[in-house]
This record gives sequence, structure tokens and C-alpha cells, in this order.
Amino acid sequence: MTHLNKKPRFENLNVNLFDDLHDDLVISILRKLSSSAFSPSDFLTVLFTCKRLNRLGLDPLVLSRAGTHALAVTAENWSDSAHKFLRRCVNAGNIDACYALGMIRFYCLQNPVSGASLMARAAIKSHATALYSLSVVQFNGSSGTKSDKNLRAGVALCARSAYLGNVDAVRELGHCLQDGYGVPRDVSEGRRLLIQANARELACSLRSYLSLKSGNETLTDLFCGGVPVQEIHPVNRFLKDWFGSGRVILAEGLRMCSHGGCGRPETRSHEFRRCSVCGKVNYCSRGCQALDWRAKHKMECAPLDLWVAAAEIGDGDGEAVEIENHVAR
Ligand SMILES: [Zn+2]
Ligand SMILES: [Zn+2]
Repeated sequence: MTHLNKKPRFENLNVNLFDDLHDDLVISILRKLSSSAFSPSDFLTVLFTCKRLNRLGLDPLVLSRAGTHALAVTAENWSDSAHKFLRRCVNAGNIDACYALGMIRFYCLQNPVSGASLMARAAIKSHATALYSLSVVQFNGSSGTKSDKNLRAGVALCARSAYLGNVDAVRELGHCLQDGYGVPRDVSEGRRLLIQANARELACSLRSYLSLKSGNETLTDLFCGGVPVQEIHPVNRFLKDWFGSGRVILAEGLRMCSHGGCGRPETRSHEFRRCSVCGKVNYCSRGCQALDWRAKHKMECAPLDLWVAAAEIGDGDGEAVEIENHVAR
């Protein structure tokens, strides 16, 4: 039994096999990691392991492939280093990073010129979400005045984004066509697009359910009020947390989009459209209004002032105040 107490012997114990790997091979592995990481820390912790991984991990070939989740810096962890990391990814030609940093600069860092320019860089490379976000900027004349609204440019950007498969853009375009907003009115085509957007949303939710069915999620977790729950883009979550955490206070008179999955703030007073019935919620777009109406606002929306007035006026004398039906868009 004495052999059990012996220490195992390894030949060539001092040979570091990692050093023998060619840079190209390590870069190729890091590219795969950066594109599939579930969070920035998944990727960045590897870079802290040693100087070589740090150097190769920051190679433009690796950073250009960093995926949406690897770039998903949170508002809570925002710092100069996080900014520098996103900037490096932008310089490496990563279009997801162009979009993410563009949105952050436009809405959070009060640098709308640089933000819009970065979003445009992504849009030129057919980044569907960047095209949609730029359409919202054009529809609202964001960072400018009311006269800077450009509905036709908004529709053009939205149409391009919808063509590339962005569901929010398909929905927005459907509402524009239904209302004749920035485009000649075409109710049947508008309806067709809205049905298409709903069908795609449903398909996404069912796909998520099927991929998560080994977890604890149930089918009802993926629906809210009978409406599929959309996955929130990390940049929208960043915006929501940036202004919602209380760390940064919006300038007086400015409001956030009331749709929970959006996070866009107004860039000037009364920029967003308001619910015409209760006047208590504001939306950056028709799409956000429609989504929030279906998800929750239809349960909350009530012209309370009118009801209070009705109770005071009509107390016992049968007088009623007619309340206009709110038609969900
Ligand atoms: Zn919104
Ligand atoms: Zn309302």
C-alpha cells in the first residue's frame, strides 16, 4: 500500500502548454467567447487572468465580435472603464457597440450629436434596432425642437428596420399606416402589419418557452394579460435603470416613456404623446403606447377627474357624465 502515499510524477512539469499555443488560435477561442458570453463579466474575467489573455482579448478581431450580452454594461456598473470598453469595441467596428454606446450617449450622457452619429454608423450597416431607434428620434424631433420632427424620415427608417425584421418597427409602421402618420393612410396594410407584429411576438414567446422548458418558467410567465412578454433589450434596461434608480434625476418637466420595456426619456418638455383619456402616461412612440395598453394600461386607464366630478355633481340626482370610450391604438 505504500505506493498510494507516493506523490504522482508528471513528466515535464515546468512546460507551460498555454505559451505554446499560437496567438491566432487563442484569438479564435476568445472571439467565440466574446460572441457567446452571457454577460460582460463572463468575458472580462477571462481577460484579467493573465497579461497575454488581456492583450489578446482586447484585440480588434475579438472586440469586433462581442455580442449584445457581452456588451450589456449595466447602469449600476457604469464607469470610465465601461465607457472605454465600449469605445474600444466601437473602434474595432462592432455595430452592436455603436448602437449601445450611441443610445447611452444620446439619452444618458447628454451628448446627442455623438450618440446619433454612433447610431447612424450602426444603421448604415443595417442594424435593425439602430434604424428603429433613429426613427423614434426623427418622429419626436428628439434633442431638438418640435419643428425638428421629420415624420417622413421616421417612416423611411422604420420601414427599413421593419424590412430587416425588427418587430417594434413593424408595429410602429402598422400604426403609421393606419393613422396616416408620415405616410399616406392605408388602413388594411396597417392592420396587416399589426397582425404580423403580433404573430412574430407570439412566435418569439413560444420559442423562449420551448428553450426554457427545462427551467421553472411556465407558459403563463411569458404572457401578461394574455399578451406575450417581450424580452427587454439590454440598452433599454440600461436606460430604465439609469433614470429609475434615482442616481440620475431627469430635468424638471421631462418624463420617461411609460412602457416598461422602453426606458427612453424626453429630451424636451412635452416631447412624448400622452394618453388622451387619463393624461397620466406618456409614450415615445405609437408602438410603446399600443404595447403598454395591452399589457397593463387598459386596466389602469380611467378619467378619474371626470369620475370625481360625476360623483360630486350627480350625487343622487341620476346625472351622469358621459365618458368617452378609449380606443386602444
Ligand atoms: Zn417608448
Ligand atoms: Zn390612460
